[in-house]
Amino acid sequence: MSTTALTILVAGGAGFVGSHLCETLLQKGHRVICLDSFQTGREGNVLPLCNFPTFRLVRHDVARPLVLSEKLDRVYNLASPASPPHYQADPVGTMMTNVVGTLNLLELAERNGARLLQASTSEVYGDPEVHPQPEDYVGHVNCTGPRACYDEGKRAAETLCFDFVRAKRADVRVARIFNTYGPRMRADDGRIVSNMIVQALRGDPMTVYGDGRQTRSFCYVSDLVAGLIALMEVAEAPATAVNIGNPEEFEIRELAERVRDLVPTSSRLVFSALPQDDPKRRRPDISRARDWLGWEPKVSLAEGLPQTVAWFAAEVTPAVPAPLRVARSVGAV
Ligand code: NAD
Ligand code: UDP
Repeated sequence: MSTTALTILVAGGAGFVGSHLCETLLQKGHRVICLDSFQTGREGNVLPLCNFPTFRLVRHDVARPLVLSEKLDRVYNLASPASPPHYQADPVGTMMTNVVGTLNLLELAERNGARLLQASTSEVYGDPEVHPQPEDYVGHVNCTGPRACYDEGKRAAETLCFDFVRAKRADVRVARIFNTYGPRMRADDGRIVSNMIVQALRGDPMTVYGDGRQTRSFCYVSDLVAGLIALMEVAEAPATAVNIGNPEEFEIRELAERVRDLVPTSSRLVFSALPQDDPKRRRPDISRARDWLGWEPKVSLAEGLPQTVAWFAAEVTPAVPAPLRVARSVGAV
């Protein structure tokens, strides 16, 4: 990590991961511009960051043309809904955010001579036939299904990134992020960790899709942020994408039981159909992150889940946040 103070744009910085990333970068002494449409992001995530004089918040849709007055050193592109219910609510918008938005940010990075990190996803592997998933696995994605707007949007975004690299137009790094959880997920996010915790806290039925034998590997958000920064700051850009995730693999049913062990609740598990194209198994091969970045996760599910439960326990009966003043974009911001 450089000790120089950098000017860093975090697109999608008001979201779950983005707000933690902004906070860590500010704590390291950098200037951070958080750019967000607030489609799924929350003002409450970034309100405390406004105490840093080096923080600026801009409301803007990355799929619209983008000009910034500041000279940028780094661009993190996290702008995209990530939860299946949220990215499927406006599938065309999701595709445009990921394709046009990524192109706009790549061109911004090119104009600034800035490095760009693209937040890609394990969804580029689709419902994988190779387990665990190494980066050279090309994936098994249904391009016409309900998840395609996200999976194919992220795959096209990766294509744009590596086309910019081949044309020497920008220094780009691509992180393939596996399921990440932690404080600041929305209570209505719809992903498994937040759903199980919120349902258990409210005494509602805990919704398990399919038989709950499908697996995911859960990474705590502080580990992900450390991995993203390590990839952004490694001197030589890896020529390929890099998986960032925690290889500890769990059946969804087991995750639900672990939440029930932590939350005194009357909630019962209720089972319903597995959504179309839902991946059956997922676990990252993180050899490249270990070898190239010297990064590996430090927080096990046994440590991270109680911290997340504690945060949601306060969140599900929240105080009303103060209104936030946000600069509005008019094309040039
Ligand atoms: P999130 O929904 O909490 O955050 C996404 C942020 O992007 C939100 O603040 C949202 O308002 C913003 N955004 C969406 N569309 C935008 C647009 N057109 N213009 C500007 N801002 C826009 O999701 P997250 O979990 O924090 O995910 C962050 C990034 O990491 C996403 O790109 C996601 O695809 C990727 N990712 C996350 C996970 C995970 O498990 N959290 C896994 C794989 C990939
Ligand atoms: N899932 C579930 N109940 C829920 C939400 C999700 O059983 O309330 C399942 C979902 O079908 C998937 C897994 O949990 O098999 C992880 O889902 P999530 O939406 O968190 O992430 P993704 O499918 O994108 O990995």
